[in-house]
Amino acid sequence: MGKTVEVYDEDQMTFPLYIKVNPEMVEALEVFLGHLDILDPDNVSEEHSELSMEHSSLDGLRGTADYVRISADGSHLWLYDLKYGKGIVQAQNRAGEVNTQLLSYASLLFDKFPKLETAEVAIIQPRGATKKKFRSARIDRSDIDTHVSNCRRAQASALNVVNLVEPIGDHLKTGSHCFFCRAKNICPAQQKEAAEKLFG
Ligand code: SF4
Repeated sequence: MGKTVEVYDEDQMTFPLYIKVNPEMVEALEVFLGHLDILDPDNVSEEHSELSMEHSSLDGLRGTADYVRISADGSHLWLYDLKYGKGIVQAQNRAGEVNTQLLSYASLLFDKFPKLETAEVAIIQPRGATKKKFRSARIDRSDIDTHVSNCRRAQASALNVVNLVEPIGDHLKTGSHCFFCRAKNICPAQQKEAAEKLFG
């Protein structure tokens, strides 16, 4: 509490942002930690916070998981993601589709820990505008296989976009000046750079 931390989001800004940890942030984290306390303390072989991951065979699939726990026998995963914002993010929609970010992070973990067969993936959103602060879904290795194959197809399509895109004139040069640009969301130079970063 009261400590100043440096935040750097390479996708959103080109300079660090300084944030002072306030009581609301501490309270939110306590809600998150409370959900970890419910888990069986004897059924664990390893656990991690802020685990950086990269897929072994799918270029561009990478991320940092907030909380990861592997069961004692190595077959089950708990993957919990902390969302600090108020806009509700579902773990699973009404059609039964699991949140793509959770599926992607779970895919990275199933890749990293080959003995995994099942997982509980969850979003914990202490400040979310709903009573239900913990929302989860159950998945297994077949869901992961489907997701990874969808990612490979999306990657192939995106590569076509990168290769076919019209040459972008010298007048559009991305850089730190883009942070304040109101055309950022429709700028072809930004879109090409983003596609190349992910799939190039
Ligand atoms: S976002 Fe595009 S249009 Fe805006 S400053 Fe950057 S390169 Fe120029």
